[in-house]
Amino acid sequence: MARLNIEMLGSEVLRKKAEDVPAPGPELDRLVADMLETMYDARGIGLAAPQVGLSQRLIVIDLKEDNSEPMALLNPTILELGGDKDRVEEGCLSIPGVAATVERPVTCVVDALDAKGQPVRIEAEGLLARCLQHEIDHLDGVLFIDRISPIKRKMLLAKYRKLADK
Ligand SMILES: [Zn+2]
Repeated sequence: MARLNIEMLGSEVLRKKAEDVPAPGPELDRLVADMLETMYDARGIGLAAPQVGLSQRLIVIDLKEDNSEPMALLNPTILELGGDKDRVEEGCLSIPGVAATVERPVTCVVDALDAKGQPVRIEAEGLLARCLQHEIDHLDGVLFIDRISPIKRKMLLAKYRKLADK
């Protein structure tokens, strides 16, 4: 396994709409393993392929502190978003050091393929639902900073640039 380079805010690949993932196989298995290692190393709970420079519809998630529940989803689509919303602080491995409260639906239903190419349907709520929405946003070139108010975004970006300048 290898740790991959994480693309940072400003990188073009983060703003592209990603392509469907080609068929599962050893190459994809390796990529999933590398993405998980990269995510664990950066102490994240989710990572999307564009964040490692690949414009493909692939995400990995593991919400467990002990890294015991890795999940890889290919070509995920959101079928349904719940009506209730909540506001929770989010960060992103591509915009390190800053965080903001983001409003999102509390529940969602996602269809995808697992790493072996088998169809899966996930009915998620709470942190998993939020994480799925954040990561699937990445596949469409959307970042969490796009989902906060312009004034908050301006403040967050100013703080981020200050941190990056150091
Ligand atoms: Zn992110």
